Amino acid sequence: MGSITFFGGAGSVTGSKYLVSIAGKKILLDCGTFQGLSDARSRNRQFSFSPTDVDAVVLSHAHLDHCGMLPLLVKKGFRGSIFSTLATKAVATYILHDSAGIEEQDVAYKRKHNIGTQDEQEPLFTIEDVAATMKRFVPIPYARNIAQGWTEILSGISVKLYDAGHILGSSITVLRYEEAGEVRHVAYTGDVGPIGVPMLHDPEIPRENIHTLLMESTYGKRKHLPIELAEERLATAIHSVCKRGGIMVVPAFSLGRTQMLVYTIHKLLDEGRIPHFPIFVDSPLATDITNIYKSYTQEYDEETRIDFTNEGKLPLTFSSLKYIQSAEESKKLNGMEGPFMIISASGMMTAGRVVHHLRNTISNKNNAVFITGYQAIGTTGRKILEGAKQVELHGRVIPVRAEILLFNEFSAHADGGQLTDFASNIEGLTTIALVHGEDKEVQALQKRLQEKTSEWNVVIPNEGDSISI
Ligand SMILES: [Zn+2]
Repeated sequence: MGSITFFGGAGSVTGSKYLVSIAGKKILLDCGTFQGLSDARSRNRQFSFSPTDVDAVVLSHAHLDHCGMLPLLVKKGFRGSIFSTLATKAVATYILHDSAGIEEQDVAYKRKHNIGTQDEQEPLFTIEDVAATMKRFVPIPYARNIAQGWTEILSGISVKLYDAGHILGSSITVLRYEEAGEVRHVAYTGDVGPIGVPMLHDPEIPRENIHTLLMESTYGKRKHLPIELAEERLATAIHSVCKRGGIMVVPAFSLGRTQMLVYTIHKLLDEGRIPHFPIFVDSPLATDITNIYKSYTQEYDEETRIDFTNEGKLPLTFSSLKYIQSAEESKKLNGMEGPFMIISASGMMTAGRVVHHLRNTISNKNNAVFITGYQAIGTTGRKILEGAKQVELHGRVIPVRAEILLFNEFSAHADGGQLTDFASNIEGLTTIALVHGEDKEVQALQKRLQEKTSEWNVVIPNEGDSISI
């Protein structure tokens, strides 16, 4: 009998790491970074399993909370292959290099000012570790692009990658193996996108008989508005801030959210639903990743072809949009008069250039902060979202007077109803393990799934738990 052990992304949304033991092999599904919580750094430093025992990794997508600890895994002795889609590999290169760069800067600062223990003054990993990690990647096409759909990754174990519709390259993993002469399938959703995300395909439903499904639960309790209504709300908000000459700061993950917002604003402009005003994507990483999105036009969905590419237009390029790389250009935004919009990272407002922009704008009631993504507990974004009257930004306490607007609909995660429909469409399901969600969301989703059918055993694993499969 096989098993799955949950080493992260269980009872919380970050640090996804699920070790699957089947057919005498150990496969690690994702190897993500713990984020947000005060002990995140020390939890990232150690694995609760031996990296040398892992035979292969399958990576669902290139968000840091899913791929960020791969360089440490390699540094600590992992010598197998890392399987993912080609686009995930392309994006992961930038994400991991960026992460190593931040790590090195952070450590240099701590050493200079002698902050923290000796351990904390050592980088978790370096650019060299990232280079060694990238050599271990073996790209696999989506199942829809290969005849049989299956790729053998280890002797007796094959994988199929379905489109998860979450970000470019994101995949749902199905593992096939034999046990007592019987073919069995276990699947992991990774992060699942909602229906109708710009540019991306809707999540694909695996066609196999799957006995155990690891399913994400980020928004298990919520119900998203249809994307059309979200677009309308965004257009209304933009109109009102433009009218009062305000500055719109949009904290956004460099990967996925930024491209989705740019696409939506482009569409609203083309349809004459918002006025023209300057828009800046102020993030070197987002700019690099957008260039990858631009080069993977074969992955765009039908709607993007109809709206843009069939007419010879590029969805992520338009005249009032400027991508900013250099720090000098970024600083020039400080003295500019509104209305204009800055889309910048980090998405949870914990670091990066967006912190500067918030510091300069958040105390003015004419300005606005558009929150478009998940804000983990402990982050600056979560505090602002929950109505903090003041926040600490770069060591200074600043009053929050700007308008704070929440656009959950632009989330790259399916809501509770969509996740339930997803599971309902899978054949042969007996066990669903809910991962990647905070307590309230996971429990609400468990209840919803149990109400749907009594045929499923719906479990909520804690970190360190194992289940038999
Ligand atoms: Zn993700």
